[in-house]
Amino acid sequence: MALDTIKSNASHLYKGRELKKAIDWSEEEWAHWGWHQRHRIRNLEQLAQWIDVTEDEEEAFIKTDPVFHMGITPYYASLIDPYDENCPIRLQAVPKMPELDISNWDLDDPLGEESDMVVPGLTHRYPDRVLFYTNHNCAMYCRFCTRKRKVSDPTSMTNKRAYQEIYDYLAEHPEVNDVVISGGDPLSLADKRLADIFEEFSKIPHIKYCRLGSRNLVTLPQRVTDDFAHLLKTYQSRHLSIFFNTHYNHPKECTEEAWDACDRVALSGTPMNNQMVLMKGVNDSVETVSELNRKLLQMRVRPYYIYQCDLAEGVSHFRTSVKTGIEIVRGLRGYMSGMAVPQFVVDAPGGGGKVPVNPNYIVDLDGDSIVLRNFQGKIYRYPETELGFDQITPEVMLPES
Ligand SMILES: *Cc1c(COP(=O)(O)O)cnc(C)c1O
Ligand code: SF4
Repeated sequence: MALDTIKSNASHLYKGRELKKAIDWSEEEWAHWGWHQRHRIRNLEQLAQWIDVTEDEEEAFIKTDPVFHMGITPYYASLIDPYDENCPIRLQAVPKMPELDISNWDLDDPLGEESDMVVPGLTHRYPDRVLFYTNHNCAMYCRFCTRKRKVSDPTSMTNKRAYQEIYDYLAEHPEVNDVVISGGDPLSLADKRLADIFEEFSKIPHIKYCRLGSRNLVTLPQRVTDDFAHLLKTYQSRHLSIFFNTHYNHPKECTEEAWDACDRVALSGTPMNNQMVLMKGVNDSVETVSELNRKLLQMRVRPYYIYQCDLAEGVSHFRTSVKTGIEIVRGLRGYMSGMAVPQFVVDAPGGGGKVPVNPNYIVDLDGDSIVLRNFQGKIYRYPETELGFDQITPEVMLPES
């Protein structure tokens, strides 16, 4: 969207209310992430400079702020439709009353991340890879966040000593070759701190890959500067391959600014993957996900996972049925580039890990041949070679219809 349009939306809303001051900025300020960080929307007055706040949202802000702060970058706020309370961008950023509904399925630690924590800030669940929580703040606080209890809480920061314990653990565990750097959002750290992390990983020979998990490509693409891209390029080596895993949930998030930021990451030689969370009212349709994934491929971001919404407290209103996710994947496979078809997973409650859930393309597996259904629903047979081809006659293999 052009800056002028964003500004006129913002000031139009300002005129309708008695606010002290409308928000204003220069083009240079808008292009600088520090400005967005300093002007994050933290209260109702600031929110009203951007959108027509409803009564439900006002009440929700008052009730949820003590538990999970609101924090929206002006950039992300500019993507919200100011007059549509069901805007998919708005649902991800602005508190809503249903966040206060707790279902009896909701868990304190839905993914068992704490129970699999080997040292503070490090979860080791899978044989060869670990999850490292570098910090607990983010450019924007997403209303669907699984780690709501931790993020936005300044007292839960991972400190320097904890970092050292984590590096020691990694050095002592040669089976670990992949580190997921997560948070909060690691891009809330200064470039220097990120460089230190890559430096430490480079010193541990068995660490071959790491992935930076950050939503800044979506909520604050200005943070992904040339300097940051240069840092990625510096630490990419034959010994350590760095990937960037991000979190686009809706095609409206694929803006020019986001595309520019992805270009910088791609040009540094860093592959990008996307982990989308399936959410009611945001992206629970084949049309929305296909449009998103086509745009992501153009931006050179490979759709990697679709997550079923976790059983975290305060996100139950986003939950769809698991069947919805299966039907979405069925609607993608075969109809669009296979590169745009992600794996749908359910993170099993209590630390079971990610379980792939797929549409069923196998009709029968018991006989001499396997019976398959293709994406259009047509039936095909393929011989089970273990029996030996001489035992199967092509006639038995003809399609049934
Ligand atoms: C998701 C996750 C990983 C990474 O899993 P991949 O399937 O390799 O992407 C590693 N550790 C934990 C605890 C995770 O939740
Ligand atoms: S950026 Fe990630 S960790 Fe931070 S609030 Fe959003 S979903 Fe949660």
